[in-house]
Amino acid sequence: MSSHPGEFDATRQLCAEHINLIACYGIHPWYSHLFSVEGDPDKKRHYSSVIVPPPDDQFIARLPAAVPLEDAIGAIKALLDQDSSALVGEIGLDRAFRIPDPDTKKLTQYTVTLEHQVHVYTALLQIAKQFSRPVSIHGVKSHNELLTQTTKILKDSDVRIDLHSFGGSIETAVRWYTTFKKQVYFSFSYAINGRRERQLTDFLRNCGIPATQFLTESDSPKWGSDTISDLRRVCDIMSHALASRDNCTLEQVARLISLKNIETFLASA
Ligand SMILES: [Zn+2]
Repeated sequence: MSSHPGEFDATRQLCAEHINLIACYGIHPWYSHLFSVEGDPDKKRHYSSVIVPPPDDQFIARLPAAVPLEDAIGAIKALLDQDSSALVGEIGLDRAFRIPDPDTKKLTQYTVTLEHQVHVYTALLQIAKQFSRPVSIHGVKSHNELLTQTTKILKDSDVRIDLHSFGGSIETAVRWYTTFKKQVYFSFSYAINGRRERQLTDFLRNCGIPATQFLTESDSPKWGSDTISDLRRVCDIMSHALASRDNCTLEQVARLISLKNIETFLASA
């Protein structure tokens, strides 16, 4: 799964080398400020309009030149054209994100306007709809806006939606499920959700959403023994919660959330 066009080549190459990997191409909300909705962006005007509070000239000077969003969209479309199994992701909205200092990487006071994030996000949803590809969505402190924008574009489409490392409330999840039914999936990782095991267990037991809509995920930047044990741990937590709820065996749930559901999610529309 890529986060911005700088990772597209590496993603494509890795997936070409490993037949069991599926490529995802997108712009993560942590990178949305680097893309301009203007064709030929003026650096200062672009960053002044998408970053709050308005950044000073010194900060702007240290940011890279903005890339026209149209160019990134063209690159994603070309990659989806070349690879019929590729998905769109990771995309989304994040109200808690703060821009890191370009040199020290420490988080600054600067955030990206929701309006700009929505612009980038909806442009990417349109691509998913055009190509009928599933999407992986990141949402932090923005579920109302995320649901509103996603509904506008994907309701009654054939695009399957995964809300990754879902951290919203039961009420929020039910709103997504009521709107999208079997089109929406909720995935959970040990890295984000497993650390609050009680909360995840309570969510799964009480949400009333069928187990066919849940997936396990690593949400990890690397693959290794830690990733595998994290996947086992989150699968274990989820299986215990759902087996007692649905009156079935741990093995039945584990198979469903780790194997069967991902096949349904990925199945071509
Ligand atoms: Zn994410």
